[in-house]
Amino acid sequence: MALLSLNATHNPLLKSWVESANQIDHDFPIQNLPFGVFTTSDQPQPHVGIAIGDAILDLVVLAEANLIECPDASVFNTSSLNAFIELGAPLWSSIRAQVSNLLQIENAILRDNLELRGQALIGQASAHLLLPVKIGGYTDFYSSKEHATNVGSMFRDPKNALLPNWLEIPIGYNGRASSVVVSDTPIRRPNGQTKGPTDERPDFGPCKKLDFELEMGFIIGRGNALGEPISCADAEQHIFGMVLLNDWSARDIQTWEYVPLGPFNSKTFGTTISPWVVTMEALAPFRVTTPAQEPKPLRYLQYQPNKKYGVDIHLEVQLKPESGIQSCTICQTNFKHMYWSMAQQLAHHTVSGCNTSVGDLMGSGTISGSTSDSFGSLLELTWNGENPLTLVDGSMRRFIQDGDEVTLSGWAQGAHYRVGFGLCRGTISPAKELS
Ligand code: CA
Repeated sequence: MALLSLNATHNPLLKSWVESANQIDHDFPIQNLPFGVFTTSDQPQPHVGIAIGDAILDLVVLAEANLIECPDASVFNTSSLNAFIELGAPLWSSIRAQVSNLLQIENAILRDNLELRGQALIGQASAHLLLPVKIGGYTDFYSSKEHATNVGSMFRDPKNALLPNWLEIPIGYNGRASSVVVSDTPIRRPNGQTKGPTDERPDFGPCKKLDFELEMGFIIGRGNALGEPISCADAEQHIFGMVLLNDWSARDIQTWEYVPLGPFNSKTFGTTISPWVVTMEALAPFRVTTPAQEPKPLRYLQYQPNKKYGVDIHLEVQLKPESGIQSCTICQTNFKHMYWSMAQQLAHHTVSGCNTSVGDLMGSGTISGSTSDSFGSLLELTWNGENPLTLVDGSMRRFIQDGDEVTLSGWAQGAHYRVGFGLCRGTISPAKELS
């Protein structure tokens, strides 16, 4: 069985004594229980926590009070989720079930212990969220057919927008793990080489076509040894959970540098992810079949028909100018449109024998839908600057300006609740001045 089945933690009727978690449009109801790492001004040592409503449940406090059972509680008293993830899927599931039980409205154990409750529940507003995992490797795919078609139409030939390999290979490249940052980390506009089509030589200076890319990332939960590929059927057992991901991109730098080996400086100045990792178990009720694939993929990329390898996750992008008080929603789309699934991406990534490790981050590639308001980058939304967007304050955008704040959000919608991802947000600061 490749995909997780439903259990008591998915019951849509569950309510929590943490009242904010019961709001129907809250990202963090009791059915979600995503994992993250946080500090507070009183508690500078990082702890692993679970988001519940507007609060964070401190797993260090729970373990010390013997309210949760874990074979090695030291995994919660550390600066990343990696040690916890290493303990394996049955333990992730056990912690989720224990926490779900503790937080249920009928359960008085923590609810009525006001002193312990005061220590174990921290308001998210007073916490500082860290990068949730130590990321050894970051890979970025290119798996939205709509996005690849748009880019191919823009820069090559609308009649042959997809390159011949696109329908056969989940295209990807090895990104830069060192510059993956958590939401709300400022991103500095990069300097780099750019060259216009008629210029004799390149220019050097601040990027003029700075863009976002709306993506989701998945976190490796179980690695594979060098030389030992992961099959498509087994791939989901190697995934811990998902985050929102903004793959900031310098389009003008990319245009000049990407031939013949692909993007380099245009992608390495910052990649932002959301701080809460939503587990595959929390997403189990929202699985959907992926789009039909024609031609039929090669055997190592095939999986059982009718199995639900996609996820129905509504996604949005907001842009707020530095001077603006109001955000403008510039894109709405859905992760379910992705042509290549996470399982196929991981099978392809490792089919050569490439190894992966716990905490590795796999980006989906820009997620675009079929309509012009569902494109996941400014490159597509403005068609490479030809059709600028008008924001609510009347200002125009072809690409991102200094001071602009870009926020990704997303959620899977249940009957009376949603499993949300929180925010993946970043503000652009001016390029470093050249001496
Ligand atoms: Ca990308």
